[in-house]
Amino acid sequence: MAPLIEIKGLTKKYRIGREVITALDNVSVDIEPGEFVCLLGPSGSGKTTFLHLVAGLDRPTRGDVFVKGLCINKIREKDMALFRRRFMAFIFQSYNLVPTLSALENVSMPLMFDGMAKNRRNRRAKDLLTQIGLGKRLRNKPSEMSGGQQQRVSIARALINDPKVLYADEPTGNLDSRTTKEIMDILVERVKEKGVTLVMVTHNANLTEHADRVIYMLDGRIQKIVDQRNNTEEVFFSEEDEIEESEMRKEDAKNAYGEGAPGEAKAIVTAEAAEAAEAVEATISAEAGSGSTTGADSECTDTDRHPGEGAGGEAAPEDGQTAAGA
Ligand code: ADP
Ligand code: MG
Repeated sequence: MAPLIEIKGLTKKYRIGREVITALDNVSVDIEPGEFVCLLGPSGSGKTTFLHLVAGLDRPTRGDVFVKGLCINKIREKDMALFRRRFMAFIFQSYNLVPTLSALENVSMPLMFDGMAKNRRNRRAKDLLTQIGLGKRLRNKPSEMSGGQQQRVSIARALINDPKVLYADEPTGNLDSRTTKEIMDILVERVKEKGVTLVMVTHNANLTEHADRVIYMLDGRIQKIVDQRNNTEEVFFSEEDEIEESEMRKEDAKNAYGEGAPGEAKAIVTAEAAEAAEAVEATISAEAGSGSTTGADSECTDTDRHPGEGAGGEAAPEDGQTAAGA
């Protein structure tokens, strides 16, 4: 089967002060239509960065992402919002529902951007929420629902448009273990039923059970890929090989932030803030066709497309502090 998504040599570097952090280091992998791919790795291993780049929410320093053979780095800014809306959906750890809207309104909103009449979109949203076990919570605001219920709403919101791909970043990260199982079961059932491709990021090895393939990430690289359908694995490097390099990178991070300032924690807060902003952008401003974080007019090549990588002020530390403090 032809891959749905081809990821080639994907690299992302962030500059922090004078240090350059390689969040993603030359990652290549194909994703097939209808697959459930799990990206498993410890905090800081580059999972969120991978997801954002593959979804076109952020630009790679190097490398390309092709969706059905189309290089998404080539898509113009104003077409990108439409492409995202038609093709993909997101689920985040922190749900990212619009707090002032009811469950029904949150779920039906993506259909509004497609110009569907109110009656029709409300009926569809109600049906989906009912299937997902929230038929009695249609009028509730997010603050009136449990974490598990909110995440169900966000699953319904993600699926209402029949996306081809669903990207999920630690979708059960805020939930207890019982609710985690419930949410995972619902998620897997819904995506399998609809034939949606699911790319899910997690640091929890217990959640990979239903995945077709598990991609193990370590320090921005793919360590191995396990195909759970036929019990085969492809190993790219061993953990021992990585230890030395990992220690060096930790030193780099420490130097970049100075003593007593855990750089990684700060940067991850930044990434979370960016996620939240992007989710709201994807949900609310899609209509305006603006607000994307991807750059316009970028070209796909296998050579250095963005000269001076990491030096272009990607996520400067000042931004991080602002976002973290907001
Ligand atoms: P994960 O999702 O696996 O926890 P991330 O993709 O968020 O990992 O981060 C990978 C690495 O990139 C980490 O070292 C992190 O500190 C760094 N990083 C992520 N986002 C930024 C950013 N906006 N600015 C600087 N460094 C970042
Ligand atoms: Mg993450």
